[in-house]
Amino acid sequence: MAIDFIDLKAQQARLRPQIDSAIAAVLDHGQYILGPEVKQFESELARFGQAEHVLGCANGTDALLLPMMAWEMPRGAAVFCPSFTYCATVEVIALLGGVPIYVDIDRDTYNMCPDGLSKAIEGVKAEGKYTPWGVITVDLFGQSADYDRLAPIAREHGLKLIADSAQAFGTTLNGKQPLDYADVATTSFFPAKPLGCYGDGGAVLTNNAEHLRIMRSVHMHGSGRDKYDNVRVGLNSRLDSIQAAILLQKLSIFEEEITLRNKIAQRYIDGLKSNTLRVPSVLKGVISTWAQFTIEVPDPDSFGAAMREKGIPTARYYPKPVHKQTAYQDHPIGAGGLANTEDAMTKVIALPMHPYLDEDTQDMIIETAKSTL
Ligand SMILES: *Cc1c(COP(=O)(O)O)cnc(C)c1O
Repeated sequence: MAIDFIDLKAQQARLRPQIDSAIAAVLDHGQYILGPEVKQFESELARFGQAEHVLGCANGTDALLLPMMAWEMPRGAAVFCPSFTYCATVEVIALLGGVPIYVDIDRDTYNMCPDGLSKAIEGVKAEGKYTPWGVITVDLFGQSADYDRLAPIAREHGLKLIADSAQAFGTTLNGKQPLDYADVATTSFFPAKPLGCYGDGGAVLTNNAEHLRIMRSVHMHGSGRDKYDNVRVGLNSRLDSIQAAILLQKLSIFEEEITLRNKIAQRYIDGLKSNTLRVPSVLKGVISTWAQFTIEVPDPDSFGAAMREKGIPTARYYPKPVHKQTAYQDHPIGAGGLANTEDAMTKVIALPMHPYLDEDTQDMIIETAKSTL
């Protein structure tokens, strides 16, 4: 039996009858755009995410664009972000004419390093070429960033704080969601994310009704009083009714799935701990959603090849961080440098992780990983 890196079929087998009837209900009422499921899902996601408001949108990338467009981020604005992330975090800054300033990660959690952020902001201010505008933190691999330290830095400098929680919707830090610390939090429902749909989807979470009102306009071509009144340049970025219907079913078991992922992660950690292999560290007070279980080994490419030969898939996030990518290599590196990013990228490799990984398979993966080293 082949092992999946992320097994979407197991969850589907569990939910298939409910999902079939949820999709059938959309086909019956025919409101494919902004049907009743969208509103219902937005309110249930808001409840789960401890947010006053949620706006569904077309994907996790647009979920970042919408708040930035609604705030009318000026061209040339400096936005501090990690390089050790998926390209979309940086893409949205560049797309809107901003200047991404790369900030290093904490070497244990892979999330933005607070000291690195301070240094980068001071550096940009001292140089005087760009005006600091905002910070996009990423809750990488399912784990909340260190908002107790990051949020005060953003606040002290008067910067917007956007939590890119595309990989980590549901993560908490001392019982609080990233939105508790940030001006806005975003997520993605790309199928492989912990809460994924069957296509593209995303959402923005906010506690600010006025910001929500403008984002709602932006996500419908900048509409004003009605759709024939266009008051700003916007996007066409809505969450489909069918995807909302599917997500409602998946959200109903999401809490349980987070618990299952945490059990598996703990078993992995207990079984894998050794001198030659580094297991993930979780910040004190954080509950991770374990989008990825990332270990570190001296030679991840040959480790991955050997694992594949023994039937175990692995994936590397991120062997080539954003600042090394052709499209993004010219943006400034913050004053603190990127030493941790450059080190982590040569060692990280992720093992199969999903809520339906049974104990025998976990044990097999643990034993194979250890013997491969
Ligand atoms: C997946 C992801 C996104 C983008 O989400 P899409 O739905 O694919 O547009 C943004 N940021 C991070 C950190 C991601 O992992």
